[in-house]
Amino acid sequence: MATVEQRAAETQDGVAAVSEDAAKGIPVENPATGEIVATVPDLGPEAVADMAAKGRAAQPAWEAFGFDGRARVLLRAQKWLMDNAEQVISTIVSETGKTFEDAEFAEIGYAGNAFGFWAREAPNYLGDERIKSSQVLVKGKKILQRFRPLGLIGVIGPWNYPLTNSFGDCIPALAAGNSVILKPSEITPLTSLLMAEGLRECGLPENVLQIATGRGETGAALIEHVDMIMFTGSTRTGRKVAEAAARRLIPASLELGGKDPMLVLSDADVERAANFATYYSMQNAGQTCISIERVYVEEPVYDDFVAKVSEKVRSLRVGKSEGPGSVEVGAITFPPQMDTIKDHVADAVQKGARVLAGGNEVQGPGRFFEPTVLVDVDHSMKIMTEETFGPTLPIMKVSDTEEAVRLANDSPYGLGASVFTKDTTRGEEIAKRIEAGAANVNDAMINYTVLELPMGGAKASGLGSRHGPGGIRKYCSQQAIVITPKLAMKKELFMYPYKSRTSRLLAGLFKFMYGRGKRD
Ligand code: NDP
Repeated sequence: MATVEQRAAETQDGVAAVSEDAAKGIPVENPATGEIVATVPDLGPEAVADMAAKGRAAQPAWEAFGFDGRARVLLRAQKWLMDNAEQVISTIVSETGKTFEDAEFAEIGYAGNAFGFWAREAPNYLGDERIKSSQVLVKGKKILQRFRPLGLIGVIGPWNYPLTNSFGDCIPALAAGNSVILKPSEITPLTSLLMAEGLRECGLPENVLQIATGRGETGAALIEHVDMIMFTGSTRTGRKVAEAAARRLIPASLELGGKDPMLVLSDADVERAANFATYYSMQNAGQTCISIERVYVEEPVYDDFVAKVSEKVRSLRVGKSEGPGSVEVGAITFPPQMDTIKDHVADAVQKGARVLAGGNEVQGPGRFFEPTVLVDVDHSMKIMTEETFGPTLPIMKVSDTEEAVRLANDSPYGLGASVFTKDTTRGEEIAKRIEAGAANVNDAMINYTVLELPMGGAKASGLGSRHGPGGIRKYCSQQAIVITPKLAMKKELFMYPYKSRTSRLLAGLFKFMYGRGKRD
């Protein structure tokens, strides 16, 4: 298998025009050590245009593989991922600084499932579907709904999950018969390069999946060439992507930021709630779009919950992952994110919050922040209203459930949420009142692993969704087909010449069909 440098060089050699910037390349840092682990090309607009031409040329043959042919490649890729899991994990860990387990559970586990899911479900979600209609004028006709691949899809991904969130969205796009150009984050491009090589080994034809390494400008250039853009990243960049897509009138699917609330009601299993709050706020060092970012706890269980969470968070080991079981909380991947985390904690403390665990940056080597619990917080503080994206857990006492629901909804974001209560009927009612694309009762984040379910944000957390039927149909154009049998009348009743008798007949027919009022 090729080295990182060979993989990156292939990307560079494969394009016609390599700018001076590309020749200089982008250094990739291991955030857990500060070492530069590789350099990848910084591809400019000409290189992206060249890739787009190659992707378009390769697409028809890939579409002609059919569902079965494409499924064979994806299932080989699923096995390849399991056979090469160690190498993929070490690549993810080397460019994100996350722990072995965060790479294993949330990245390998996700992608392993996704290859099989889309291979299996693509024909079910996209196959021609015979439609029954209540429209009398089409009685006897064959009515079909069909989906066909849009052609060339651009996927732009963030740095927090290079396999799940960058590469993961390529899988359904490929399963639908598109070619794909993936622009990974400049911070974490290595996993995408490795996966592209793996897919080639599994029989994916040349240029069906290409990796456009580069910075924001490379992503912007990509939008100018593709038929649809799948973007995961911040709400700020998502708006720019939506504007660029609108100018070209191409569809855009946007998975953006979040500030997920957790509600702990007075009848909750406090031990379970505390374990979930600890894990789902600190997992991936809090750098997950659907992390628990703020907690509202009803007064009767507040002290117990805070004591339990503080103790659990204080026991977490932070640092460079040396393999399975070595640490719980890994590095802060993106350098500027450290400034945001420190700013949110300082702002909260300055406005009266108390720190019960952590609170500080860990001195290097590497970039780490202590797992942090804050209390006496409120919505005047950034830590309760803006995306922190770090290992922080602010906990707020509320007098009742109504206050918890009101505060949960007091956010521009609406990605995920969780409610803890032993009364699951009430939990479901409350979950439905939360303005978020997903809500879990007595759990958190787990909806993301259910690939049959749509996953997308409400409000400023996004447009469109991944997973479920919509998660693959968005990579297709829809076509409606109506087929009239050969033994049809020479013309329809409503056609020329217009006659008053026919018009009266049609009026009577419409009245009969639609004018009889409510029928019990
Ligand atoms: P950014 O928005 O900064 O970047 C996302 C991607 O967009 C990167 O590849 C970036 O390139 C690229 N990019 C930057 N500018 C442009 C542009 N003008 N046009 C096109 N592409 C551009 O997000 P982060 O990488 O910081 O990711 C963290 C964010 O992602 C958080 O807000 C998090 O909540 C969100 N996220 C949402 C998920 C969801 O499912 N809703 C899942 C995971 C993360 P480069 O990095 O090279 O600058």
